[in-house]
Amino acid sequence: MIDKTGRILIVDTLPTNRIVLKVKMLAAQFIVDACGSRAEAEAIIERNRPDLILINLSDQAEDRHGFCRDLKGNPDTAAIAIISVGIADTARARFAALDAGADDVLPRPINDALLLARIRSLLRVRHARQELMLRDGTSRALGFEETRSGFNVAARVALVSNSAPSGASFAQKLNEGLTLPVLRFETDRILTTTAVTPVPDLFIIDGMQYTDDGRSIFRLVSDLRSRAETRTSAIMVILPDGQVETAALSLDLGADDAVFSAISGGELVLRAKALVHQKLLHDRLRNTVRDGLQAAVTDPLTGLFNRRYVEPHLVRIAAQARTTQREFAVMMLDIDHFKSINDRFGHAAGDMVLIEIARRLRENLRAIDLVARIGGEEFMIAMPRTCGEQAHAAADRVRKLISARPFSIGPDHPLLTVTASVGVTTGGLTPLDRGQINGMCGQADAALYAAKSAGRDTVAMSRCTAA
Ligand code: GH3
Ligand code: MG
Ligand code: MG
Repeated sequence: MIDKTGRILIVDTLPTNRIVLKVKMLAAQFIVDACGSRAEAEAIIERNRPDLILINLSDQAEDRHGFCRDLKGNPDTAAIAIISVGIADTARARFAALDAGADDVLPRPINDALLLARIRSLLRVRHARQELMLRDGTSRALGFEETRSGFNVAARVALVSNSAPSGASFAQKLNEGLTLPVLRFETDRILTTTAVTPVPDLFIIDGMQYTDDGRSIFRLVSDLRSRAETRTSAIMVILPDGQVETAALSLDLGADDAVFSAISGGELVLRAKALVHQKLLHDRLRNTVRDGLQAAVTDPLTGLFNRRYVEPHLVRIAAQARTTQREFAVMMLDIDHFKSINDRFGHAAGDMVLIEIARRLRENLRAIDLVARIGGEEFMIAMPRTCGEQAHAAADRVRKLISARPFSIGPDHPLLTVTASVGVTTGGLTPLDRGQINGMCGQADAALYAAKSAGRDTVAMSRCTAA
């Protein structure tokens, strides 16, 4: 279970600075550690695994920038968010902090609303990433081998702006530093087109064009966050200098970054790169999770579902049968003398037969029927809303589907006639627990055995005793 509160570490040599920040963080319900030196900080990180570090980069006693760089360079700590507090508000100092790996820079005096919104935004991203990683233990460090500034995938950045002068100026700043194409979009187009394809990885909203106290920006941010196509894209807003409350609210509504118009080109580019990098990393995590789930329930040779998928699916079919009072059928199909195909023509020829049988089954059954490969040359078919008579007819159709048309097993061999035997059972009018569902599969297996004994290339029926 991920701790949704958030654990924060404050690193500052001055005790008074630490106390002031600590009080604010505790008031906001965060769990807080605070210390003055790098050595202490490292011990706390090791022990308590903070989600976010507030660090005073203007501390002279130690090389704080080097510390940030090391944290971001280490796969174990790279995902900890860092906010730099307390540096001079100069373009150079800000750039140096971001370049060292800070996710944001807030000069003193710190605006509390903005600080808290920024922390919430960074924690939100961190929690999303942790959830993805929990589901995919193998990809824990996936993506962290890349530097924050390097991409090896084509990414898309969209600048959303109606106002010609500010839009042109931001576009120029971005184009100078980003190696990615920056697409320009009119605000109306973003709001009215349901699909901007391909969907940008990062939306940069030019907030200089509005004079409605942020309302248009809030609407845009909420809109992008709520739509399925743009939900996972990163969002940055650029606001007129001093609009701190608009920045805080934009972050709370789902923006990933909020900056002010005086931002230097270098800083804008650095922040844009960090957001794109984060977005691409999350895409990759999401894909591994999805591919992993799919791989877990499918058979790589035939693409059919595997045995693991069958049981929970049968439980659902059985429940539906009980509710609708329509029987369902379970068929077990086993290829006849398959071993001799391997023995005579080789394993590769056997594989070709398996693949072709899977294709014929898939193409000739209904979409609601489940086709699974549950063993070497054994298949299971579950057919909802199918009574005994219909099941027998379907099984015989499937049998003929295999025996009627010979199989190609490569250019070096003649076409090969293949047959299969099928055992069928039906049931489901009374409630079935898992054991009874397994019993039903056992009945179909027994019927299959009877079909084999009866000479193969045939169908045998069995009434399910449990139903
Ligand atoms: P029966 O008519 O009684 O079903 O005989 P059979 O030869 O089909 O059955 P048996 O269980 O003796 O042999 C099944 C063979 O299937 C043995 C095994 O090597 C082969 N086999 C299992 N999985 C695969 C596979 O993925 N590819 C190939 N080519 N062969 C497989
Ligand atoms: Mg077999
Ligand atoms: Mg067999």
